[in-house]
Amino acid sequence: MVNLLDFDAAAFTAFFADHCEKPFRARQVLRWLHHAGEHDFDRMTDIARGLREKLKAVAVIVPPKLVADRLAGDGTRKFLFDVGGGNAVEAVFIPEDDRGTLCISTQAGCALDCSFCSTGKQGFSRNLTVAEIVGQLWQTRHALGGYRDQSQSNERVISNVVLMGMGEPLANLANTLTALRLMLDDNAYGLSRRRVTVSTSGLVPAIDRLRDECPVALAVSLHAPNDRLRDQLVPINRKYPLATLLSACQRYLTKAPRDFVTFEYVMIDGVNDAPEHARELLTLTRRIPCKFNLIPFNPFPGSAYRRSSASRTRQFADLLIAGGVVTTIRKTRGDDIAAACGQLAGQVQDKTARRGRTIWPLALEGQGVVR
Ligand code: SAH
Ligand code: SF4
Repeated sequence: MVNLLDFDAAAFTAFFADHCEKPFRARQVLRWLHHAGEHDFDRMTDIARGLREKLKAVAVIVPPKLVADRLAGDGTRKFLFDVGGGNAVEAVFIPEDDRGTLCISTQAGCALDCSFCSTGKQGFSRNLTVAEIVGQLWQTRHALGGYRDQSQSNERVISNVVLMGMGEPLANLANTLTALRLMLDDNAYGLSRRRVTVSTSGLVPAIDRLRDECPVALAVSLHAPNDRLRDQLVPINRKYPLATLLSACQRYLTKAPRDFVTFEYVMIDGVNDAPEHARELLTLTRRIPCKFNLIPFNPFPGSAYRRSSASRTRQFADLLIAGGVVTTIRKTRGDDIAAACGQLAGQVQDKTARRGRTIWPLALEGQGVVR
C-alpha cells in the first residue's frame, strides 16, 4: 500500500502510469486530495468506479493524526500531530489582518542542538515523511474551514507557509523538496514561491540544492555575528562557518523568488545583543541584500538564557536600520500556549544520546481539545 499523500505530481503520474492510467487521471486525483481535501475514494465523483476500486486496492490517503488543537489569546492556534512511535510534532497557525501563516514541522526533534532551542534540546527521532509534512497543511486547512468554504480560496485561510516548526528542513531535504513542490502546485495548494519560506540553520550544500531544485523564500538563522559565538549557539557553524554560509546565500539569491535573504536573529540577554554585535553584523552582511528579523528569545522549561529587554532589542534594531538594513522585531505570538518560535516541543523519542540532559516533553494531556 502506498500513501498518496506522499506523492507530488510527478510521482502521481508515474504511479498511475504503472497502473496503466492516463496522466490526466493522476491530476484529477491529485486535485481531489489537496484541492478538495478528500480522503475517501468513493466521494471522488468524477473518477470511474473501476479506477476507484483499483486505487482502494493499492493506495491509502492517510494524513498525520491530529490529536490536539489549542487556541491562544491572540488567535494563534497550535496543532499537535501524533506521528506514531511515541512521536508528536506541532504546527502553528498565525492569523494576521492580511494573511494567515502556517508554521509547520519537518522532523520529529532535531539533531543540530542549537543551545537556545527547545526542539534541539529534545534530541532527534526521525525525519517526517512527505505525507506528514504536507499533511499538516491538509489537516489544519480542514480544521480552519478552508476546504468547507471554497469561496475563501481566493483569499486563502492559509496564504503563507513557513518551514519554521520543529526540525531542520534541509536535513530532511528530499521529503522537504517534494512537500514544497506540492505546496506550489496549482493542482494542490497553489501557493506562490514568495509565500513559502524555508528556514535553515545553515546546511550549505542543501541550500544550493534548494536553489537548483525548488527555490522558495529563504530565511537563515544567523544568531551571531562571528564564528566564535555562532559555534556555541548554532553548532553546525563548526562545519559550515559564516563565510561559507554567506557565499551560499549570495548564490541562492541568483535564483530566489525574492531579492533578499531574511536573517533571523534571536535576541538573548547578554549573549549576542550588544551594540557591538549589531555593528559587526552590518560589516558581515554588507555584500548581501538582506533583511533582519529579530526574534526575542522565547524561554522554555529548563532553558538557561533570558530574553533581551525590549529597549535593548529596539536599540539593536535601530543600529541595523541606521546601517541601511531593513529590520523588524518579531511579535511574540501564542506564547501563552508555548507556540512561539523555539517553544515547539511536541513529543520526541530521542535516538541521540541527548535525552539524559533533556527537559521532559510536554505531556499530551492538558493540551486542549483532543479529537
Ligand atoms: N531548523 C530551522 C527551522 C526551525 S527553528 C532553523 O533553525 O532555522 C525556527 C526559528 O526559531 C529559527 O530561527 C530558530 O533559530 C528560532 N528559535 C529556536 N529557538 C528559539 C527560542 N527559544 N526563541 C526564539 N527563537 C528560537
Ligand atoms: Fe534544530 Fe533549528 Fe532548533 Fe537549531 S534552531 S536545534 S536547527 S530546530
